[in-house]
Amino acid sequence: MASMKDSLIHNVHKEEHAHAHNKITVVGVGAVGMACNISILMKDLADEIALVDVIEDKLKGEMMDLQHGSLFLRTPKIVSGKDYSVTAHSKLVIITAGARQQEGESRLNLVQRNVNIFKFIIPNIVKYSPHCILLVVSNPVDILTYVAWKISGFPQHRVIGSGCNLDSARFRYLMGEKLGIHSMSCHGWVIGEHGDSSVPVWSGMNVAGVSLKSLNPDMGTEKDKENWKEVHKQVVDSAYEVIKLKGYTSWAIGLSVADLTETIMKNLRRVHPVSTMVKGMHGVHDEVFLSLPCVLGNTGITDVVKMTLKPDEEGHLKKSADTLWGIQKELQF
Ligand code: NAD
Repeated sequence: MASMKDSLIHNVHKEEHAHAHNKITVVGVGAVGMACNISILMKDLADEIALVDVIEDKLKGEMMDLQHGSLFLRTPKIVSGKDYSVTAHSKLVIITAGARQQEGESRLNLVQRNVNIFKFIIPNIVKYSPHCILLVVSNPVDILTYVAWKISGFPQHRVIGSGCNLDSARFRYLMGEKLGIHSMSCHGWVIGEHGDSSVPVWSGMNVAGVSLKSLNPDMGTEKDKENWKEVHKQVVDSAYEVIKLKGYTSWAIGLSVADLTETIMKNLRRVHPVSTMVKGMHGVHDEVFLSLPCVLGNTGITDVVKMTLKPDEEGHLKKSADTLWGIQKELQF
């Protein structure tokens, strides 16, 4: 007897073994991973999303909860599994797995714990999606992007750290609050290490092309009566403060990762402050990843914008590079 489905539908073509064209994997379904997922889903950026984690109940629960929202989304397939075969054929793999900062703990302190986790995750990703772009979010993000690059054997343009994308967004939000203008129209770049030693490029801050530094030459110095230095300090303190208040950070990083995802999946070639291999740039001699303005598209990072930095700004970058290299050369992986 014909099934009800057969009575309802006349099949025209059987789609066998069809796989997604715009698949994204998110590894880690903690606070950050789920904020990335929901932000990406709301922007319709994938035709399939795969979730991976080591805690199976939570993983299945998060998958089901998202699936139940399907009516309100435009991503037809949401899958999950501990086994990396669910990630096969991903275009983009976002890694948010690992230990997070406890109250008052620095990002750099997380390093060896998260390197050990990456030793397991990265080879599995490479096995099932050898041509993907890796976007690392787990902290310390610049060091873990280097680790992901080394373990994957991928070319450097396909291994990206979310880096100062969030720091720059925080900076532009605070700049906007100070000026009474939406952050989209407040231009400013925070580069270098994500977090404690990030570098604000005061000389580049502008609204409608008008340089703020030309109006207030003391900007960013101790002499500045408007104390713009405090804005950058607030950026550096942001994560510590939010973690103290709510236990973790999630929404802003999720939204900022979805913004990067949009540029990559739609090949927009927008410029973002993300972490890339900077050896040979701004006087850095070691293989370290730091954030610089990068042109992003569907092959990863195609170009880096050459910023005109002041000697003290380059000095800060080199100092961060030395600190990161000091840690990297001791890592076991
Ligand atoms: P969380 O503890 O809520 O979630 C981490 C998840 O990783 C957990 O679900 C855990 O089970 C999973 N996990 C652990 N080992 C795994 C493995 N081997 N394979 C797969 N999954 C594994 O933490 P969170 O708040 O979501 O933060 C995640 C990471 O993101 C942290 O390292 C945090 O510091 C970082 N983070 C980065 C930024 C940034 O701007 N780059 C911002 C916020 C947080």
